Amino acid sequence: MTAEAKALEPGGLVTIVDAGGEALGVGTFNPHSLIAVRCLDRDPAQAVDAAFLAGRLRRALELRDRLFDRPFYRLVHAEADGLPGLVIDRYGDVIALQANTAGMEALLPQILSVLEDLLHPTAVVLKNDSPVRRLEGLDLYDRVERGQLEGPVRLEENGAVFFADLVTGQKTGWFFDQRDNRAAVAALARDRSVIDFYSYAGGFAIQAAKAGATQVTAVDRSEGSLALAARSAEENGVRVDCVRADAFAEMERLAAAGSRFGVVVADPPAFVKSKKDMAAGAKGYRKMTRLAGGLVEAGGFLLVASCSHHMDPASFAEEVRHGLSQAGRTGRILRQSGAGAAHPLHPWLPESAYLKALLLQLD
Ligand code: SAH
Repeated sequence: MTAEAKALEPGGLVTIVDAGGEALGVGTFNPHSLIAVRCLDRDPAQAVDAAFLAGRLRRALELRDRLFDRPFYRLVHAEADGLPGLVIDRYGDVIALQANTAGMEALLPQILSVLEDLLHPTAVVLKNDSPVRRLEGLDLYDRVERGQLEGPVRLEENGAVFFADLVTGQKTGWFFDQRDNRAAVAALARDRSVIDFYSYAGGFAIQAAKAGATQVTAVDRSEGSLALAARSAEENGVRVDCVRADAFAEMERLAAAGSRFGVVVADPPAFVKSKKDMAAGAKGYRKMTRLAGGLVEAGGFLLVASCSHHMDPASFAEEVRHGLSQAGRTGRILRQSGAGAAHPLHPWLPESAYLKALLLQLD
C-alpha cells in the first residue's frame, strides 16, 4: 500500500483504479483492514449519497416483501444487498443494525435517516458488538440509537410467535437464517418426541411443538435464552420442557439413561471461530453428531448445523458422516441446506455462505 493510501481516512469513499489507471468503481477504504476496499458500485461516477443508499435499501425491502408475508426478516445481508459490512434485521417496526466496517460506520448517520423515511421504525438498536469490528479499528458498542425499546421484541416465523431480546440477546437477537430449516424439521415432528440442543430462544423447539410433536425439550446453557423460549412456548399455547445444561453433558446423560427421540436438532454456536480453531472445531462437529445421532430412535430424524464461516460444506459433511459412523448409525441425507433467502449470497463471494445444515433420517 502506498504512503498516500495509508494516510487516507479509514472508512472514506474512494474511486477504485486498476494498475493501468482505469477506474473500476466506487467504494469505502480502510488502510488498517486486510480487506482494504469494499466496492459499493461498479460505476466510478456513482455518488454515494442518501439517494444511493435509499435505492439499495428499497431494493432490499422489495425483495423481502416479495419473499415474506410478514415483516420479520434479515432486511440487508451485506455484499449481496450491495451494502458490504452492513447487516439489518427487521422485527416489524423495530430495527437491529450492525455496521461491521469503517466504511459502514461512516455512512451510519445517512443510513439511519434513510431507514427513518423508509420504515418509520419505533426503535433502532445498534448491535455493533461483533469482534470483526476490531479488525477495522472500530470499538465495540451496543445501544438503542433511536426510539425506545421495552423488553424483548415480538416476531413471527413460519406461523409461530417468538420473543427476541435485542439488547442482551446473541447477534442481532434472532437467527433468521434457520427459518427454512425450522420449517423442514417441524414438518417431520408430528407424533414424535423432539429434542432441540442449543435451542437459544426456542426456534426449532416451538415450531416442532406447534406442528404436533408429542413432547419437546429445549436444551441451552443460557438461562436468559430458555426464559425467552418458555415465554414464546406459552404465547403459542404449546408445552416445551426447558433444560439448562451443557449440550454434550446432557447428550451423554440422556444416552446413559437410554433416552431416544424421534427428532434431534443440534444447531450450536460456531465451533470454528478462526482458522486456527479448525482442527478442534471439526472434532467438535464430529463429536456433536456422534452424541446427537446416538439419541435418534430408529427411523427418526437428525438435523445438525454449523454456522462456522471457516468450515466449508464438504468438510462439515465429512465430520457428520464420521460422527454417525462412530455412533454406529446408518441413514440418508434428506436435505442439505444453508441460510434462507433473506440471506442472499453475492455470486463472487461463495465463502460468505457460512450456514450449513444437514437433515438426515437414521436407521
Ligand atoms: N439453534 C438456535 C441458535 C443457536 S445459538 C436457533 O435456532 O435460534 C447458540 C446457542 O447455544 C446459544 O443460545 C448459547 O447459549 C448456546 N450454547 C452455547 N454453548 C453451549 C453449550 N456448551 N451447551 C448448551 N448450550 C450452549
